[in-house]
Amino acid sequence: MEIYAMRDFDGHELVVFGHNAGVGLHAIVAVHSTTLGPAAGGCRMWPYPSTDAAVVDALRLSRGMSYKNAMAGLPFGGGKAVIIGDARTQKSPALFEAFGRFVDSLGGRYITAEDVGTTTADMESVRRATRFVSGLGRKPGEAGGDPGPRTALGVFLGIKAAVKFRLGRTDLNGVSVAVQGVGGVGYHLCRMLAAEGAHVRVADVRPSAVQRVCDECKALEVPAERILLEEVDVFAPCALGAILNAQTIPRLGATIVAGAANNQLAEDKDGLALQHAGVLYAPDYVINAGGIISVAREYQGGMSEAEVTAEIYGIPARLIEIFERARRENRTTNAVADQMAQERIHRSARRMVA
Ligand code: NAD
Repeated sequence: MEIYAMRDFDGHELVVFGHNAGVGLHAIVAVHSTTLGPAAGGCRMWPYPSTDAAVVDALRLSRGMSYKNAMAGLPFGGGKAVIIGDARTQKSPALFEAFGRFVDSLGGRYITAEDVGTTTADMESVRRATRFVSGLGRKPGEAGGDPGPRTALGVFLGIKAAVKFRLGRTDLNGVSVAVQGVGGVGYHLCRMLAAEGAHVRVADVRPSAVQRVCDECKALEVPAERILLEEVDVFAPCALGAILNAQTIPRLGATIVAGAANNQLAEDKDGLALQHAGVLYAPDYVINAGGIISVAREYQGGMSEAEVTAEIYGIPARLIEIFERARRENRTTNAVADQMAQERIHRSARRMVA
């Protein structure tokens, strides 16, 4: 693997491999940038088909975290960890403790938290070995804990902003939304959408997860392979990355894409394909920042849950700024967001040099 030549390498500061044969740990930490502060980003556990695939995912996610943290106005850089393994069968407290020792060995350059395949309980195991971890259990009224519901709140507010911008609607009553993936984020999102009168359609590969939202939110079940084709106002990807690509975009049934999944565009040029198809795309790392805002503020300490919620309410204004600038300059929303994030990082780097 020619790692320095890879498109996804993109000037990463650090890529390290952690291994512990005793507990079966195979982990990678990627630190894209610490210009704005220590790199913060979750730890994903996933049964990657190869180490190369895990490295590429870590790099893409890590760069996304630099941009996400910059756009959210957080004093953190971007990093991410991946653990190669099946979260359903290969987890143990000892594995996460070993991962914690790995994170600790980086001396605070990288701060971890939960992501797909990892939970608050796993982070409690990590905590036994390092203080560079967030997204832990919390007491009522305190900021932090499971970031999923906070991410869902940001996505919900972002959907409302996109609906207002594109459809001129100030409420979601009767607006149709297709949600792909009803796990930690998608479930809470569906509840908020249904409470505002949206018509929710859902798909998940786990029948029990679908059943729960259908029962609780009167959502309509759609087969997983058809959810992207649904003729709806909004498609909300809350499952996998790279879901928007040359194969799927021509078949997309929605006029707005606004969801939680990281790295929704397979390639940057897919943003242009969406624009040409007349689809308004809410850049993923802007709309899904609610969770990292919660995790970051928990790590820093001293903020109440209400103050963190108020920060998450800042997400729609950032999206509207991106939508308006993209329209004015006839550019894609993802290109505008990338430029804004890079400008924030470079401004800070210049301040440090001066
Ligand atoms: P999760 O694992 O709890 O839920 C994902 C759901 O998607 C699962 O229920 C899974 O069965 C389902 N799924 C998998 N493949 C599918 C398919 N092909 N079709 C339909 N459903 C499928 O993860 P989550 O925490 O809800 O996160 C969802 C997405 O949002 C991920 O991409 C994650 O990276 C991103 N994200 C999450 C957070 C957070 O705070 N949890 C923050 C930012 C971004």
